Amino acid sequence: MAVRTLGPLDESLRKKLEKLGLFSDFDLVLHLPLRYEDETRLTPVSEAVPGNTVQIEGVVAEQEVLVRPRRQLVCRVEDVSGSLYLRFFSFYASQAAAWSPGVRVRALGEVRTGFHGTVEMVHPKCRVVRHDMGLANTLTPVYPVTAGLPQRTLAKLILQAFERLQKKRLLQEILPAAILSAYPLPAFADSLSILHCPPAGVSIASLQQRSHPAWYRIKFDELLAQQLSMRSHYRQRHSQRAPVLLQQAGLRQTLLKVLPFGLTDAQHRVVAEISRDLARPYPMQRLLQGDVGSGKTVVAALAALQSIGSGYQVAVMAPTEILAEQHLRKLSEWLTPLGIGIGWLSGNQKKNRRNEALEKVASGAAMLVIGTHALFQETVQFRRLGLVIIDEQHRFGVGQRLALRMKGGSENVIPHQLMMSATPIPRTLSMSYFADLDVSVINQLPPGRSPVVTRLIDSTRREEIITRIREACLAGRQAYWVCPLIEESEVLQLKTAVETCETLSRIFPDLSIALIHGRLNSEEKSAVMAEFSRGQVQLLVATTVIEVGVDVPNASLMVIEHAERMGLSQLHQLRGRIGRGSATGVCILMYQQPLSEVARKRLQIIFEHNDGFEIARQDLLLRGPGEFLGTRQSGVPLLRFADLEEDTALLEMARNAAEEMLRNYPDEAQRHMQRWLGRKEDYLRA
Ligand code: ADP
Ligand code: MG
Repeated sequence: MAVRTLGPLDESLRKKLEKLGLFSDFDLVLHLPLRYEDETRLTPVSEAVPGNTVQIEGVVAEQEVLVRPRRQLVCRVEDVSGSLYLRFFSFYASQAAAWSPGVRVRALGEVRTGFHGTVEMVHPKCRVVRHDMGLANTLTPVYPVTAGLPQRTLAKLILQAFERLQKKRLLQEILPAAILSAYPLPAFADSLSILHCPPAGVSIASLQQRSHPAWYRIKFDELLAQQLSMRSHYRQRHSQRAPVLLQQAGLRQTLLKVLPFGLTDAQHRVVAEISRDLARPYPMQRLLQGDVGSGKTVVAALAALQSIGSGYQVAVMAPTEILAEQHLRKLSEWLTPLGIGIGWLSGNQKKNRRNEALEKVASGAAMLVIGTHALFQETVQFRRLGLVIIDEQHRFGVGQRLALRMKGGSENVIPHQLMMSATPIPRTLSMSYFADLDVSVINQLPPGRSPVVTRLIDSTRREEIITRIREACLAGRQAYWVCPLIEESEVLQLKTAVETCETLSRIFPDLSIALIHGRLNSEEKSAVMAEFSRGQVQLLVATTVIEVGVDVPNASLMVIEHAERMGLSQLHQLRGRIGRGSATGVCILMYQQPLSEVARKRLQIIFEHNDGFEIARQDLLLRGPGEFLGTRQSGVPLLRFADLEEDTALLEMARNAAEEMLRNYPDEAQRHMQRWLGRKEDYLRA
């Protein structure tokens, strides 16, 4: 579709437009006003209420240039109803000359109460009235602009682009009438026209708050394009082939019998959802969400059994060495007794160990393969891979996940994929950016967990914290001390951690203290973790390497230094390491004043909420979807117009409409995606 035809423009103008992200006529017509000015009517001066933005007209009665306290031009303007002051702090001599007493001017600006209780406008838009100057017919749009690009120029370019597209019939209605009438929405071109040139009388508030039907149409179209794209990928997957993995009741029963606990209802439910998907001939792509400690590992183990029982290998991938090892330990404990061969692949493995492991993977002797990103290197060949399980999926880039998905082995099938995440994704986000996945949620914690108690303590009150640690350890419990995150320098971070450990060792000569950080090699790390697990280490000083997945039930106290530097999901993850046993967990967040506004807000949220979903929702509000999604979705165009928090109802509508269009109006669906996504569509395939 030839919409990329900005008319002939001079080079500097084109550059300015590009700076605003405007490359085509279509970009221009979707460059929507930030706000509007009402130049369609005049307000009598006596009715100019402070706080409102109005246009007045009157005769300059007095004019003065003051020098104190600042140089300024002040004009008193009168109409039949009264008078007010116009105040300008920067002005040209020509303007002072033009707005001299006796001259009729028109001024538009926000009314406020001046210093001596007078009514005034500061820096209004002000013009001399000529005899033929009528009032505007439409509201005046105010666009986002860039330096050197005047509003009027941009408005004209937008109008020209609109007319060009109209003439080429490129703004024609695409949506089928049935859809339009089901969700009463104004036509696309009409909506654009209203937003750029609202007729006099349209409520400015409804335009600026984006609650006017014309805005709904634009937001709906945007959401619809996103849904169409995500859902059509979802459907395309159904035409790919995956191994049919049938549930082996015997194996499952054996595992359930050796587990020291029974599954929660929520675990039962998600296990059933996954099990059903695995038995289908097309690849599953399911996101398993569950708060920290909700018991995702055992769900993964049951899914793995279904694949292994059907003769297909399973790869379990974790983002860190510590976490991968923990899976290795737990899954070996559960699955080795069932006679299942387990392989281990990590980045800094000795060459011969690695070759041994690779061979077991290739021959199928290892039916379960656990590891870090080392799992998706070229040299790793599976015999028959049926299922890929990715823990803490948000830590991996799209590309890395794709690489693993391709490794189906000799058969021409695509393995099923289960992604697990402890960073809960708010519902609106999963409905939009994750609409190409199926989602299972474990919305329940195993019984007997009491919520972690969170304390906020100013770092000047270190003494109190020291006392608490001593008490906890003397009572036979264990504690974490999390060292500050120093983003600028890993070296500095390490140095701080070492020093902290030394200081704490001096303070607690009677406690057994160990240090763990990212620079230790994997053997050293696992040795430290094993000692902590066995209770030989009482206080574990750590950098944020323990953030994800570590599970030591007897550790019930955690101190986090400089908590104000950490993100919400990081704090929630860290806090999730404690309160896993019978003793009530206590998490002490040490912070240092002064706090930035955002840091204060974050600490308040983490203090007030324990539920990961609520924290994620607040985090989304605080940061917006772009930041929240981080690297996972890089390349996916973010929504420009719709706001997931405000427009939930529109999102639901768009989702239903997308399903209906893919089913009944495939051509229109294609054209709609083309209009909105154009070349960007490729990224979405990732
Ligand atoms: P996460 O979802 O954070 O990965 P884990 O799978 O590590 O959580 O489980 C946390 C802890 O809870 C583990 O010690 C695990 O063995 C235990 N657990 C899991 N499910 C249950 C259950 N239904 N009842 C009791 N304990 C459970
Ligand atoms: Mg986990």
